[in-house]
Amino acid sequence: MVSPLHSNGRAELRDEKIVTSIGDLAPRPDLRPELLLRLSGKLQTTLELQQLLEIFFDEIQQAILVDGITFHHANNGLHISQGKQSQHSVHYRLQTQGDYMGDLNFHRSTRFREHELANIEGLLTTLVYPVRNALRYHSALAAAFRDPLTGAGNRAALDRTLVREIELSKRHQHALSLLMIDLDWFKQINDKHGHSCGDKVLQQTVECISSCIRQTDMSFRYGGEEFIIVLSGASASGALRIAERIRISIEALRLQGSQGDIQLSASLGCVTLHGDDDKDSLLHRADEALYAAKSGGRNRVICETDLHSELPPAKAD
Ligand code: GH3
Ligand code: MG
Ligand code: MG
Repeated sequence: MVSPLHSNGRAELRDEKIVTSIGDLAPRPDLRPELLLRLSGKLQTTLELQQLLEIFFDEIQQAILVDGITFHHANNGLHISQGKQSQHSVHYRLQTQGDYMGDLNFHRSTRFREHELANIEGLLTTLVYPVRNALRYHSALAAAFRDPLTGAGNRAALDRTLVREIELSKRHQHALSLLMIDLDWFKQINDKHGHSCGDKVLQQTVECISSCIRQTDMSFRYGGEEFIIVLSGASASGALRIAERIRISIEALRLQGSQGDIQLSASLGCVTLHGDDDKDSLLHRADEALYAAKSGGRNRVICETDLHSELPPAKAD
């Protein structure tokens, strides 16, 4: 299918095709078999999608001049570009046996001609299965860093993220804050309504937290009913606002258990990165603030600054 599009006032041509499997696209005679063999071999050297597309983009230049390629897979949130995006593009959907594997665009400042499209399709046959393997690897890796019950990041993900975010924050001198959240009297909920109901409460808590933060903020399950939120770019006052929003939203949840309504609440500790902090010192101070919120009566937010001020901490509600 060929459909003309308009972009920035310039006429743009965009061809759309579907690549279903290797067998569907026989290599064309003007692609040297050695080139296809070499390309296939190289594409088998990595499971990283970014590297795979880099290799593909570099290698295909021997057969056809392409200014850039872009790959996207909406479900996985993957957007990868190589080279530059020029005026003309041809679009392919990659799929095997009904398995959607993303969309790939080839860009060039001049139109692709028919025999060049045939060459692109021949080259694409080498990419289909390596992309499928790379996507499976990507999913497996994502699952390894996710808590299976709630979908929040797990401890391993938290460790990696915190180390990276602390380094970025220090290098670019932007603020970084962290919230430690612990559900109040959660054991009683399990005891009264059953463990599977407790599991649902944990899932709903994560949904509730996610609705209170930006997509770029990251949430992690730190332990049984404890969660960490990493707020990149948030100052102490910004983090306090978000913490209060989360506390109020959790308190407002209307949850139904096997033995009637569940009234949920949470205590939160709120800290902001200091120049001499590392991951452990930041988590330690968050734990202290959370402990103070618990011993201060629960269902409240305590900032580390409250711990050292003369004033009594602000009480919730
Ligand atoms: P506090 O207000 O002091 O935090 O009291 P609490 O009852 O929330 O804290 P406590 O540490 O006494 O109990 C935590 C409970 O969380 C005990 C444990 O059985 C439960 N828990 C931990 N992980 C899970 C889980 O994955 N699912 C369920 N349903 N319960 C869990
Ligand atoms: Mg608790
Ligand atoms: Mg706890």
